[in-house]
Amino acid sequence: MKNFIIFKFNTFELKMTELEGKDIAIVGAGVVGLSTALSLQEEFPLANVTIFADKFNDETLSSDAGGIFRPDINVHDDAERVRTWCKDSLVHFMDIIKSSNSSQAGIQLVSGYHLSSIFSSFKNKLVEDLLPDWRKLNEKDLKLFPVQLKGGQFYTAPVVDCRYYLPWMKSKFEENGGTIIKKHISKFEEISEDYCIIVNCTGLGAKDLLQDDMLTPIRGQTIKVKAPWIKHFYYSDDVYIIPGVDYVTLGGVKDYGNWNMKVNKYQQQYIWNTCIELIPSLEKAEILYHWVGLRPYRPSVRVDAIFVPYRDGYRMIVNNYGHGSHGVALSWGTAQEAKRIVKQIITRQNLPLSKL
Ligand SMILES: Cc1cc2nc3c(=O)[nH]c(=O)nc-3n(C[C@H](O)[C@H](O)[C@H](O)COP(=O)(O)OP(=O)(O)OC[C@H]3O[C@@H](n4cnc5c(N)ncnc54)[C@H](O)[C@@H]3O)c2cc1C
Repeated sequence: MKNFIIFKFNTFELKMTELEGKDIAIVGAGVVGLSTALSLQEEFPLANVTIFADKFNDETLSSDAGGIFRPDINVHDDAERVRTWCKDSLVHFMDIIKSSNSSQAGIQLVSGYHLSSIFSSFKNKLVEDLLPDWRKLNEKDLKLFPVQLKGGQFYTAPVVDCRYYLPWMKSKFEENGGTIIKKHISKFEEISEDYCIIVNCTGLGAKDLLQDDMLTPIRGQTIKVKAPWIKHFYYSDDVYIIPGVDYVTLGGVKDYGNWNMKVNKYQQQYIWNTCIELIPSLEKAEILYHWVGLRPYRPSVRVDAIFVPYRDGYRMIVNNYGHGSHGVALSWGTAQEAKRIVKQIITRQNLPLSKL
């Protein structure tokens, strides 16, 4: 006889066994979906975990992100939650960097400079507190650069190259017995009721799936170049240079509410010229391709549980989306919180509910 746990929420009743041999569905296979899927497999090794997504690996937004761990406290109004997400992600990335998996996972430590031609002093308390070698640059340091600068910082951070990290996580997921289904989901009721939990990690796709008006794109544009001599990252005012495993990303644009996926040649020229002014050797770099991506921005990253219409009634789903410009940096941390919520649903304790 199976041990049933029964939850009753007004009109809704969820019956499930204690996840042994039970099915969990994740929608989304970007950096957030894969991190969540792996975390749930770790927590519930006997559950059958399935990922539904219409895009994988290099088809996803995550694949081409700069991938630097440079979190921002403003991603949510609950600063303590943001700190926990960031710490959890950092510990996870550092564990990979310290292991023999580092090169396969495409994660490395990169030191670099955050510079400003406008401000002599600027703060990112999270970066300052979490990254051990953070320091303010002095006048002498600023003279290393061929442009006029007022202030700057130096630190070392994990850089996650998702061209490697996503396939690495997807393989791990499949090795652990996970199932992958390539499919567009228009409504949650397309997912069978055999799945006792559904976790929504659809990034910008959540706008249609949940009619979430708070979700909006922030359009970004980058140039990928081959420049193996670039060993540091550089942020300067509105451009950045981030070395990945095989190429360097030059970026980037932040257009709020812009859905245009075409490369803008004026923005392309601005990025190129400004990066070359800062690091002139980039002029000799081979341009590989230009890229546009839409960041899934929400005033607060959404990690919670809600009821959604499902067939003749409602069912609960767990959300983990809306990471804006920081999805790689926050991915493992918010996956841990999504996992805790799934656990709470199972044990029916302090269920966090919110309205759409
Ligand atoms: C130019 C640029 C630079 C960036 N640099 C950085 C950086 O340096 N550091 C950092 O931390 N972040 C960076 N980001 C942000 C980062 O890319 C995003 O926050 C992150 O990729 C979001 O991940 P995700 O998994 O939520 O979304 P996605 O990667 O978009 O994945 C969404 C997944 O959901 C699936 N999906 C969506 N809707 C449906 C549906 N209806 N049915 C089925 N499947 C669906 C998709 O197929 C996909 O698999 C950058 C972004 C841009 C544009």
